Amino acid sequence: MRERFDVIVVGGGPAGAATAASLARLGHYVLVLEKAKFPREKPCAEYFSPGTMDVLERLGAMEKVSALNLSLVRGMRIFGRHNSFLQSYADSQTGLCSRHAMGISRPLFDNALLTYARDCGAEVREHIRVSDVIVEDGRVAGVRARSGYGDEQTISASFVVGADGVHSVISRSLGLNADPDWPRRIGLVARYEGAAAITDYGEMHTGRKVYCGLAPVGNGLVNVGLVEDLERPTDRGPMEPYFDKRVAEFPGVRAALGPARRVTPVRGIGPLAHKVRNVVGPGYLLVGDAAGFRDPFTGEGIYRALRGAELATASLEAALREESNVPIGYAAARRSAFADKERVCSLVQFFLGKPKLFDYVIDRLAARAQVARGLTEVLGDYSPAGKVLRPRYLWSLLKP
Ligand SMILES: Cc1cc2nc3c(=O)[nH]c(=O)nc-3n(C[C@H](O)[C@H](O)[C@H](O)COP(=O)(O)OP(=O)(O)OC[C@H]3O[C@@H](n4cnc5c(N)ncnc54)[C@H](O)[C@@H]3O)c2cc1C
Repeated sequence: MRERFDVIVVGGGPAGAATAASLARLGHYVLVLEKAKFPREKPCAEYFSPGTMDVLERLGAMEKVSALNLSLVRGMRIFGRHNSFLQSYADSQTGLCSRHAMGISRPLFDNALLTYARDCGAEVREHIRVSDVIVEDGRVAGVRARSGYGDEQTISASFVVGADGVHSVISRSLGLNADPDWPRRIGLVARYEGAAAITDYGEMHTGRKVYCGLAPVGNGLVNVGLVEDLERPTDRGPMEPYFDKRVAEFPGVRAALGPARRVTPVRGIGPLAHKVRNVVGPGYLLVGDAAGFRDPFTGEGIYRALRGAELATASLEAALREESNVPIGYAAARRSAFADKERVCSLVQFFLGKPKLFDYVIDRLAARAQVARGLTEVLGDYSPAGKVLRPRYLWSLLKP
């Protein structure tokens, strides 16, 4: 006999765990299928923007997360070739530094959130890899999955949530993948011990078609993340020596790391970008990276995964209540939540691709505190992004 749930969530990362937790809290019968066994590693720079904390509070998971071994991050210093700009999380009313970001290793965070989903009543099955969706009468009606022992299962649900990351099986099996109109990049990350200079501020160092971020992540560790164009005509060879060499090519990173040593293997993912034609349809929706991902420079991936989970929950809740085939209002809610920030990220990426222009902007931000504060709030995901797209703001940033 086939099992049947209200919602099957494929993937137990931040997007899936948050969606499952909030639907289960509303009393729905939720199953999470996760191919890994948690805690598991996920290539990530492990920086959680200040806005992430607001969503975790609303989700009810902040207490569990605060108990983890983490770093509070007061801001980021962003380096051009000659200057830098300190993105410090000040309160917009008082100017005081009352906000902060967090640095947490992903195995710890993701495991805590998935445990929270269980605590909320979701059923979580690990070591189960979903291979395909089942479509019946024109709507997604469940999934096919295989356990670690190789036995195939068919599980039914009113809705399937694809929260299975940039290489989403759900978006691929529904034919939703589109060509990302974005540079093809690779991301490599590792943790270091003994970087005494990186404590409560992260750093972002930029170069030609490459950047390198440093973030304290608790337990005396610093995450080092390198992102570069995949087209770089280099034989990368073995990953570890290649990463060490590329990281050492940044004089600022060398100085910040000092005698620190790498204490984890280098983990990577590429290409980074994922784009889909639709995030919602009969019997399904996509959330988190499965719904699209560009580049980690502006550090909103986890925020988007959690905020997307809130929007997914509201829309699935309405659909289950009204017995609708399609989650209600999801695409529009995502547009209203994310479209302006995506435009800001596109602008940042445009500047990043033009080193002289990037240096010009960094110089202006370093000299104009009020303008810098506006951008910091937006990049920190705690202020509406539309305000930095207004011609008046852009002029105050770009004027000579
Ligand atoms: C190099 C790099 C650095 C980054 N740095 C940052 C950063 O500092 N800050 C930030 O906010 N964001 C960062 N991001 C982005 C961030 O990692 C993602 O946006 C975030 O992990 C998205 O969460 P998710 O739950 O959608 O996907 P994921 O975290 O990828 O979780 C997906 C889950 O689905 C599971 N899964 C996949 N396929 C299947 C299947 N077929 N069956 C069952 N389970 C499956 C996976 O095992 C995984 O657990 C970075 C990304 C990269 C690549």
